[in-house]
Amino acid sequence: MSLVVELKEVHKRFGAQHVLKGISLSVHKGEIVAVIGQSGSGKSTALRCMDRLEIVDGGEITVCGHKITGESPDLSSLRRDVGIVFQSYNLFPHLTVLQNITLAPVHVKKLSRHEAREVADRVLAQVGLEDKRDAYPEQLSGGQQQRVAIARSLAMDPQLMLFDEVTSALDPQLTGEVLKVIEGLAVKGMTMVLVTHEMAFAYKLANRVVFMHQGQVWEEGTSQILKNPVTKELQEFVGNGL
Ligand code: ADP
Ligand code: MG
Repeated sequence: MSLVVELKEVHKRFGAQHVLKGISLSVHKGEIVAVIGQSGSGKSTALRCMDRLEIVDGGEITVCGHKITGESPDLSSLRRDVGIVFQSYNLFPHLTVLQNITLAPVHVKKLSRHEAREVADRVLAQVGLEDKRDAYPEQLSGGQQQRVAIARSLAMDPQLMLFDEVTSALDPQLTGEVLKVIEGLAVKGMTMVLVTHEMAFAYKLANRVVFMHQGQVWEEGTSQILKNPVTKELQEFVGNGL
């Protein structure tokens, strides 16, 4: 299996705070890796390093064949291959759903407007929002906006999707809609790294679970580690949650 993400001994500091203390992590093609851990353990920072939204202080990162640590990495190729979705949807409020989705395919991938529309139709169908193409973000529920944000990433035809607590701002029903979309991507074989608090979802979907604690990969394994944690920190974290 080919490696899509490889982090080797990655360190990241914010001022005096040592946030990632030598993280190593591999994600193979088609794998779904759930990253869990307490707030402040470094999950978002680790994910952001994979898209070079943070620049590391040490270690090596290779994502989709691009070495993104070291001298002059090819960021435009990296961003074309990697989709990232955050808790906040970050849609452009003054653009329709269709315009939000076609923006990058037209300007970055240089698709014609017609081609970009076809792509938009396909990804909107994938997230179940074909009927919302002309709506503005404010006319949509949080769950729908998040699905548009996912569709917008998919429109770039990424090899890897990164999700950072994409359901944290949503109520349970809307959370379900978004998780269903992610499950659909799993069925299609998308390689994914999901930072999530949804333990049942991680248990069901993830091939591998990575538990972060105080800036380190503290425990890692199949989703069975959620039922049979080895370290006391993971035991405490999962509690009686599953
Ligand atoms: P998690 O996603 O697990 O909650 P984060 O990666 O967001 O954790 O944060 C880890 C630590 O790094 C936290 O203590 C946070 O305050 C700090 N941190 C994150 N981003 C920044 C930043 N841009 N500047 C300063 N400190 C940051
Ligand atoms: Mg976070």
